[in-house]
Amino acid sequence: MKHVLMAVSGPSGAGKGTIVKTLLQRREDVVESVSCTTREPREGEVHGKHYFFLSKEEFFRRIEENDFLEYDEHFGNYYGTPKSFVEETLKTKSVIMEIDVVGALNAKKFFPDCVLVMILPPSIEELKKRLVGRGSETAEEIENRLSRIQYEVSQRDKYDYIIVNDDLETAIAEVSRIFDGE
Ligand code: ADP
Ligand code: 5GP
Repeated sequence: MKHVLMAVSGPSGAGKGTIVKTLLQRREDVVESVSCTTREPREGEVHGKHYFFLSKEEFFRRIEENDFLEYDEHFGNYYGTPKSFVEETLKTKSVIMEIDVVGALNAKKFFPDCVLVMILPPSIEELKKRLVGRGSETAEEIENRLSRIQYEVSQRDKYDYIIVNDDLETAIAEVSRIFDGE
């Protein structure tokens, strides 16, 4: 059986995390790539599970050692996908990565077979509602995230699949079907 590397992108608050988390609970053949970041952990986030939380020095050392499949800066913090983890895991399972548009397109350069999936909210109003409802960012951080939407959506033609996350179960089923079909 062929193992799939999938990058899931889309505006902050569209529901990527929720979709990926549920899919991982239901499919033992899919593993999530844990990214490295220099941002502070949010309440409840666990090192090695949600992210590897690194100092900027450690992050830059890993860049020098060519240890990232891709990396990027968001809101003053760095985020990167560990290359060795993805390569090793793909030998036995499929890998799902939750990364932004720039990261996903960079990953596709390394792995041309990487399947790009964009999750979009049904509307901007609904997206704002979800971001406010999540309650994990300040008003300024929410504005920052909303300001990136246009750019992210403008890249949709480069994606293999676009999924509108209106009904959560439908969106999860669509992502799951992509793993079966690829
Ligand atoms: P992202 O990972 O894309 O930033 P999250 O998965 O954190 O987004 O979702 C943002 C918020 O929206 C969360 O509070 C989540 O529970 C909620 N949410 C996700 N999908 C849906 C949906 N289909 N309908 C309503 N609320 C949703
Ligand atoms: P957050 O701080 O909300 O967890 O993530 C902020 C942004 O960083 C999101 O758009 C998320 O998709 C992106 N991100 C998370 N991990 C990675 C990664 O490994 N590489 C890149 N390029 N972006 C990432």
